[in-house]
Amino acid sequence: MTQQVPMLINGEMVISRTTQWLAVTDPATQNEIASLPCATQAEVEQAVAAAKAAFVSWKETPVSERARLMLRYQALLKEHHDELATILSKETGKTFEDAKGDVWRGIEVVEHACNIASLSMGETVENVARKVDCYSYSQPLGVCVGITPFNFPAMIPLWMFPMAIACGNTFVLKPSEQDPLTPMRLAELFQDAGAPAGLLQVIHGTKEVVDQLLVHPDIEAISFVGSVAVAEHIYKTGTAHMKRVQAFAGAKNHMVVMPDAQKQQVINNLVGASVGAAGQRCMAISVAVFVGESRQWVGELTEALAKVRPGAWDDKAAGYGPLINPQAKQRVVQLITEGIDAGAECVLDGRDCQVAGFPEGNWVGPTLFTKVTRDMSIYTEEIFGPVLLILEVDTLEEAIALINDNPYGNGTSIFTASGAAARKYQHEIKVGQVGINVPVPVPLPFFSFTGWRKSFYGDQHAYGKQAVRFYSETKTVTARWFEDDIAAGPNMTITLK
Ligand code: NAD
Repeated sequence: MTQQVPMLINGEMVISRTTQWLAVTDPATQNEIASLPCATQAEVEQAVAAAKAAFVSWKETPVSERARLMLRYQALLKEHHDELATILSKETGKTFEDAKGDVWRGIEVVEHACNIASLSMGETVENVARKVDCYSYSQPLGVCVGITPFNFPAMIPLWMFPMAIACGNTFVLKPSEQDPLTPMRLAELFQDAGAPAGLLQVIHGTKEVVDQLLVHPDIEAISFVGSVAVAEHIYKTGTAHMKRVQAFAGAKNHMVVMPDAQKQQVINNLVGASVGAAGQRCMAISVAVFVGESRQWVGELTEALAKVRPGAWDDKAAGYGPLINPQAKQRVVQLITEGIDAGAECVLDGRDCQVAGFPEGNWVGPTLFTKVTRDMSIYTEEIFGPVLLILEVDTLEEAIALINDNPYGNGTSIFTASGAAARKYQHEIKVGQVGINVPVPVPLPFFSFTGWRKSFYGDQHAYGKQAVRFYSETKTVTARWFEDDIAAGPNMTITLK
């Protein structure tokens, strides 16, 4: 067996006693790089119990001490930035620069968590009635859980546990079984930053482990990021068991290209946003909607996309890496074939893509479709591969109607030189994250990650102020201190007197 991935339970890195092990593989070679345990029921219990026990003292820890833990943690993450990116590249196949970006966008959330004192300030109003004051506090919930996807193994765990723990909660993380080494290193560094035992647990596994967590009576809140079907299962099951749930799901993100946009900017941005990370980003642009005369640029876009090639993580000339596993490649190839069979024109076909020296890699070349109709599976499904679809419409109004008709609402962008068009678009589009001449508008952590509709189930989103609300209860105190007042007798009404 290759190196056994440990779990973090009550401050100790432990090797699971399970008999069920999964292989973690290098997606460029299929070589096994580690063995991943599926935690036993008893180990899941231990993890939750450790988090529950640690909560008793952590919830009483002064806010500035909680903030100082995050300050030490963000410094350590920066110190280990390249090392983390290397681990991440090797297990996901992401190019090194893209892996550094994955780690960096997580570090930014830890920086945000350092502001927990001002973020969790409540509200006060003096004299809500004569000599009566009212004020509110944020108090932590207890044990929170995070279930994360493969495509951002640094950023997405860091969306969750630093914010939850800064708020005074304790945490159990169940990272993706496909790339657990990055989250384990994140957890180790968190211990090195001085986190008390039990604040963060990391346990491994798949559906069985998740399902045990979803119904566990000692868990208060669940954060999930992943595919739509699993998000629906998590949201329904978690809320049916009276837990607070935020579930971030799949996407189909459109970029609108107006004829007054700068052509070269459109082409450069579309290439990066569509095939970057092999299209395995929930905010990737997978549909470009060309309005009016901008459709003439499709030829130059095709030439630009054709120049991008995938390659190994340390190949500096590679535009992106392999898909995460052979099944993911098979699914993308199948969808491309379905698009061709349904009559779309595949002007760039990446199905038969080889990378010298890596015959077993899950490679798919940049793929571009025109003549796409909205009933085709390439349009209705999230492809999650380096595949861009082109749709053409005559007006901005048509583009808005088309996008609003799509069930997903994660991200979108418009490229234009017109303030009026951009204003109309940002106002009318039913998508939660809008870029104006910015192709992948992932908000920085002082805002929140606000996907809408089928891309998100819940109400409070990740990071920003919304994460503090998600991971806290509000307690509102109404207080009166008697001086020498003589009570005028019982107050028999609901009003404050
Ligand atoms: P996934 O849904 O297969 O897995 C996500 C997590 O759920 C993993 O930890 C996995 O072990 C667990 N899981 C899988 N099947 C389960 C089941 N049946 N029951 C319980 N738990 C289960 O997702 P993935 O393939 O790892 O990630 C890609 C997906 O995530 C894409 O759809 C992408 O759009 C989405 N995503 C969304 C966002 C967002 O913010 N909206 C961000 C990143 C990724």
